[in-house]
Amino acid sequence: MFLHGTSKINEEGHLEIGGVDTITLAKEYGTPLYIYDVALIKDRANSFKMAFENMGVSAQVAYASKAFSSIAMFQLIDELGLSLDVVSGGELFTAITSGFPASRIHLHGNNKSRSELKMALEHGVGCIVVDNFYEISLLEELSKGNSKQVPVLLRVTPGVEAHTHDYITTGQEDSKFGFGLLNGQIEQAIEAVLKSEGIHLLGIHCHIGSQIFDTAGFVLAAERVFEKINTWREKFSFTPEVVNLGGGFGIRYTEEDEPLPATYYVEQIVEAVKKQVNEMGINMPEIWIEPGRSLVGDAGTTLYTVGSQKTVPNIREYVAIDGGMSDNIRPALYQAKYEAVLANRVAEKHDRPVSIAGKCCESGDMLIWDLPLPEVKPEDILAVFCTGAYGYSMANNYNRIPRPAVVFVENGESQLVIKRESFEDLIANDLPLKSKVSQN
Ligand SMILES: *Cc1c(COP(=O)(O)O)cnc(C)c1O
Repeated sequence: MFLHGTSKINEEGHLEIGGVDTITLAKEYGTPLYIYDVALIKDRANSFKMAFENMGVSAQVAYASKAFSSIAMFQLIDELGLSLDVVSGGELFTAITSGFPASRIHLHGNNKSRSELKMALEHGVGCIVVDNFYEISLLEELSKGNSKQVPVLLRVTPGVEAHTHDYITTGQEDSKFGFGLLNGQIEQAIEAVLKSEGIHLLGIHCHIGSQIFDTAGFVLAAERVFEKINTWREKFSFTPEVVNLGGGFGIRYTEEDEPLPATYYVEQIVEAVKKQVNEMGINMPEIWIEPGRSLVGDAGTTLYTVGSQKTVPNIREYVAIDGGMSDNIRPALYQAKYEAVLANRVAEKHDRPVSIAGKCCESGDMLIWDLPLPEVKPEDILAVFCTGAYGYSMANNYNRIPRPAVVFVENGESQLVIKRESFEDLIANDLPLKSKVSQN
């Protein structure tokens, strides 16, 4: 069993996180329940930031908020001095509402609408990561006559494939994201942006994938981008002030995963950039990165209550819990693997393999196959580790299951940061048939 952050086994043999007994949390807030270890988020954020500071490099570490977004989360990220990536009007609205300074918000997305771009310009976001030619024309239209230019990065697909699951790889040439770096598209885009009065070309962005466990892909992507800079300097007198190398730093979901420390990723990336910069005799650009999963992934734990069990003789035992693909769709979507324990009996031997089934009407709703646990009884509390990224943010209401509550824990205290959805919330936008209304 691998315990992350402040997680430990307390005197009662219960799982404790942030100095709070998880069984108490389950009683107080109900299950399924998302718990975030705030100290661990702070620790991860600081190691990325400090790594740049120690190397004396100007940088921005932007939290890729799609991993987990909420008002409280954004306020925490602001306190930690990080920037924030958003990819939709909804994420931008949440950020602005949380009080996050617009100047440190970056807007991403492969199909930003006119109204989303308008909203971003009205709030004065720090930069827009431009993805395609349509977006350039929208920005030209929207920025016409504005006193301040819109700062943009151009997103490129550097043709580097990260070693990971196909579904979450975005760096190959054949991708829906960005301008081709190798097929001339990026030059067309640079030309268009430089010509446009209302837009300021700040630099270049690339993101090569997710859950990446080595640095070779980042180094290669940086090299690919810098190889092009000579051409851009000659042709357009353009040298990027900012090079954003994206996110995708891997985390430990199971024992098989061997993540690198944040410091190591940063050092390798900075070294690669410094080498290129020295060879070319240009100024060191600001380096931006965008960790999502690696800031919040292992800080999150989900608690479930065990319900029914089913034995298929000589084959397997199913243990069903009170959540599933409605609060964590990653196993169904990516065959993602997780580790888990019985939170109320962590100290007991976990040596009887069972398979954890969700409660949704879908055979694919299996959370974990062949998980060793002590003998399981109804109302035991199962704690699934490392659910902090792309868990709650991908939660849905399939089968009209309300989305769970989220609590932050730190220094022996818990704080509710997202309320559990109620049945009333589920029907809040439903409207009755006209004929039924007129009868009343
Ligand atoms: C999703 C995403 C990230 C964050 O990826 P993680 O794997 O969560 O670190 C960063 N940048 C871009 C452009 C993304 O789409």
